[in-house]
Amino acid sequence: MSEMYRNFIGGDWIAGAETARNINPSDLSDVIGEYARADKAQADTAIAAARAAFPAWSMSSVQDRANLLDAVGNTILARKDELGRLLSREEGKTLPEGIGEVVRAGQIFKFFGGEALRLAGEKIQSIRPGVEVEITREPLGVVGIITPWNFPIAIPAWKIAPALCYGNCVVFKPAELVPGSAWALSEIIIKAGIPAGVFNLVMGRGSVVGDAIINDRRVDAISFTGSVATGRAIAAKAIARMAKLQLEMGGKNPLVVLDDADLAVAVNCAVNGAFFSTGQRCTASSRLIVGANIHDRFVAALSERLGSLKVDDALIPGTDIGPVVDETQLKQNLDYIGIGQREGATLAYGGETLKRAKQGHYLAPALLTGATNAMRSSREEIFGPVASVIKVKDYDEALAVANDTDFGLSAGIVTTSLKHASHFKRQSQAGMIMVNLPTAGVDYHVPFGGRKGSSYGPREQGRYAREFFTVVKTAYTLP
Ligand code: ADP
Repeated sequence: MSEMYRNFIGGDWIAGAETARNINPSDLSDVIGEYARADKAQADTAIAAARAAFPAWSMSSVQDRANLLDAVGNTILARKDELGRLLSREEGKTLPEGIGEVVRAGQIFKFFGGEALRLAGEKIQSIRPGVEVEITREPLGVVGIITPWNFPIAIPAWKIAPALCYGNCVVFKPAELVPGSAWALSEIIIKAGIPAGVFNLVMGRGSVVGDAIINDRRVDAISFTGSVATGRAIAAKAIARMAKLQLEMGGKNPLVVLDDADLAVAVNCAVNGAFFSTGQRCTASSRLIVGANIHDRFVAALSERLGSLKVDDALIPGTDIGPVVDETQLKQNLDYIGIGQREGATLAYGGETLKRAKQGHYLAPALLTGATNAMRSSREEIFGPVASVIKVKDYDEALAVANDTDFGLSAGIVTTSLKHASHFKRQSQAGMIMVNLPTAGVDYHVPFGGRKGSSYGPREQGRYAREFFTVVKTAYTLP
């Protein structure tokens, strides 16, 4: 019998209406545990509990909030190896990547522990003599937090920590595929002494628990990260009832490699950005836009590097790329590789499923060359270890191709030209720009987010997180 993990609703651990098994994508015979799935009534109870807890929590001492968040951060950091192992076991990213993600979650909690003490307002002169004007920030109320499977602890952390920091109550619904890290994080928050109702864990289906959160008028704001299709569907419902909304969705991020690039830097950026974490990152570089003169050398060097990478069980030391998260995602990757080839691209490396000692969803990293930006494989997010090389004649064409996308999360350029780097930073239509760095991999204390179809609403992370998680009040006083 595998262990049973419950939801946390209104201060109590509650069994689910049903349960679901959490399976290791590196070893399909490994069941991590049975996790509760709430029904709509349980989601309603969690929302009611959050609502009831809000008046007291919104007026709680900022020192208490700072202490709590800092303690959560310290516990996460102290348990990084064990939590990293759980994360890699359930999601499939390599153990160093899993531990790295856990460290980031710990740092995020500690950062917002500090921020709780630094929330300041403004006092300015009125245009009317004798009148005082104060601008302050207040908590929003109840925040619904809906997260995806690809960062099972960091994304929940970067939404939950600022929500609690600024005095909001939380109803947290993690992704169905990765309840383990979400449960472990929740237990840490609960054991740190969060008052009943302030934080609720409601594992369950998006169509049941997620939908209940989106449609409930008692939920003041929704922070969502996930697919474009779900994000758009959520937006239509949430905006209809005027909920505050923050969406982080897909990307089709370009990495431009100019002819003057350092080849080793270009290959490192491409391997890391396109294939690490099995390419399952919204900031992954899925479009490699490469100058004609460096193109052949780049493709040769990149293919050689891909050949040296070890694709295997995420927990085995030395694994460079873990498995794809599940069967559906693996099929989607294979479908897109086929679509790219039928559209005229060449599969220059990889793209085949692999057998390993344990049965898992293993896929050799795939490199499509001879791609154009018009192909579906260049326009739609694949969300796997699949990248397309698009050859361009010069910088101007590279910039135009980089910007010719429905998305705008992250964009990178590899160049030794200060002129082109500066121009790209200004002209790229993405939210985050990387010069001689991979498109994926960001700091936790600065804003994260994109433009166009990638994001909606205020930025996440760093001090900018307060734009979403607080509401501004302007008060006039005639003393
Ligand atoms: P991904 O599969 O990449 O994680 P999804 O958009 O399918 O992307 O899922 C992201 C999150 O949204 C998950 O927690 C999922 O359960 C949730 N979700 C899916 N469908 C809905 C829905 N109709 N309403 C609310 N949440 C949903």
